[in-house]
Amino acid sequence: MATLVWFRADLRTVDNTALALACAGDEPVVGVFLIAGDQWRRHDWATVKVDLVLRTLGELSRRLRELNIALLVRRADRFDDAPGVLVEVAREQGCTRLFFNREYEVNERRRDEAVIGAFEEAGLEALGFDDQTVMAPGSVLTKELRPYTVFTPFKKAWIAAARERGGVLPKKAPAVRARMVGAPEPVPEHVAGFTGLVRPDLWSGGEEHARDRLKKFVRGRIASYKQDRDTPGINGTSVLSPYLAIGAISPRQCLKAALEANEGRYDEGNAGCVQWISELVWREFYKHLIAAFPRLCMGRAFKPETEKLRWREDDEGFAAWCEGRTGVPIVDAAMRQLVQTGWMHNRLRMITAMYLTKDLFIDWRRGERFFMQNLVDGDLAQNNGGWQWSASTGTDAAPYFRIFNPVSQSRACDPEGKFIRRFVPELARLDDDAIHEPWRLPPMARRGIDYPEQPVVDHAEARKRVLDEFKRIGGRKA
Ligand SMILES: Cc1cc2nc3c(=O)[nH]c(=O)nc-3n(C[C@H](O)[C@H](O)[C@H](O)COP(=O)(O)OP(=O)(O)OC[C@H]3O[C@@H](n4cnc5c(N)ncnc54)[C@H](O)[C@@H]3O)c2cc1C
Repeated sequence: MATLVWFRADLRTVDNTALALACAGDEPVVGVFLIAGDQWRRHDWATVKVDLVLRTLGELSRRLRELNIALLVRRADRFDDAPGVLVEVAREQGCTRLFFNREYEVNERRRDEAVIGAFEEAGLEALGFDDQTVMAPGSVLTKELRPYTVFTPFKKAWIAAARERGGVLPKKAPAVRARMVGAPEPVPEHVAGFTGLVRPDLWSGGEEHARDRLKKFVRGRIASYKQDRDTPGINGTSVLSPYLAIGAISPRQCLKAALEANEGRYDEGNAGCVQWISELVWREFYKHLIAAFPRLCMGRAFKPETEKLRWREDDEGFAAWCEGRTGVPIVDAAMRQLVQTGWMHNRLRMITAMYLTKDLFIDWRRGERFFMQNLVDGDLAQNNGGWQWSASTGTDAAPYFRIFNPVSQSRACDPEGKFIRRFVPELARLDDDAIHEPWRLPPMARRGIDYPEQPVVDHAEARKRVLDEFKRIGGRKA
């Protein structure tokens, strides 16, 4: 009797709960991955992310083969196709049970319920496990057994629960199986319908590479993370988000490494480690939220009253934002980083999201979608959380009256204009002061520079428009 392990956003052999449990006994294990091209397109997966998934899958297949586990790669274009394809694979390979790690988005949960139902009907077993977070969604609740909707108390309770559990113990890769069932199947190099940016030069695939990134980060940059993390011109963060999003590394591996670098402490000790652990908890917070509030996966605002906001229809403004030609250098540099590399620094995600939702007053859902379509680390929970925070429509979001001034933000996070120069080379010759507000230069000094003369919108006027609109819908300051 063999066990089938269905890999999804958990493309690794180390600390993979479903795989480890499947390998707990002596029975053979078979792996399967479903290429869901049509569904991925509907979920706005970026080509750069699909490419990283495929290359990581190739690496996973090689590692599994060393463990005497064959990875089968099948097509199930839509989630609705998954139950049929999986039951067929189980029968074909003589597997009596299916193990998988849970995903918490609405469509993924519906798919998994349908799979469990189809297995039951076929007289087989299908079991899901919590693996995507350190603390399982639903396990960190208020005294009234409700989900937390504010980050700081969530973090406090999360740390208490993690401590109570005795820390984190990532599972090792399973031991080599006695014999292989089935034969490994080739991983495609492309998926139909995904064209555009791929950056294998920036995003190496595979769990080993992800572990290497983690190791380098905790041995070096983590110590100065607190002071460097808001400066996009410095390589101050871990850049592990693409690997966490596809599960080439687990949050437990990340947390364990940070705790080891900080003598086992969560919220005291080295400031860089403490801050980094806190960011990992933000990730957990947003995952717990989508599990508790499914409407977040359905394009709805967390704060229902904000559905009354009259967002502007401004296709030209939106195009300028997407293409990095708003006339605000920090916004344009950031948007170009996104479309050229598939990734954007966190401070810049906040600045550009605020710019779209506050300065341009364009619906956050348009920005959320554009990010998803371009991010190598696109993850519904984190992306939605970040967008609703910026738009002041979400849980524990930025209060609507705290509107970033893009120029002050630019001066604070890129004081010498290093980052701007990298992505907006048209402005490279301007001095460290002028580069943040080129529209203030006299026409003579701007001659020969191919860059918008004025920003697409006046910040002071835009700010007033947002405040008026939030007041109209009854927004309170407290
Ligand atoms: C508008 C907006 C959209 C975003 N979209 C995504 C997305 O699609 N996918 C994604 O993984 N992150 C998203 N984030 C969160 C954050 O910007 C990225 O996780 C971070 O920039 C990744 O870089 P890093 O791996 O170097 O992070 P580090 O600073 O090294 O942090 C380590 C890990 O902690 C988590 N983390 C860090 N900051 C945050 C945060 N603010 N919120 C939630 N988790 C965090 C990430 O998993 C990250 O990899 C978004 C933020 C905003 C404001």
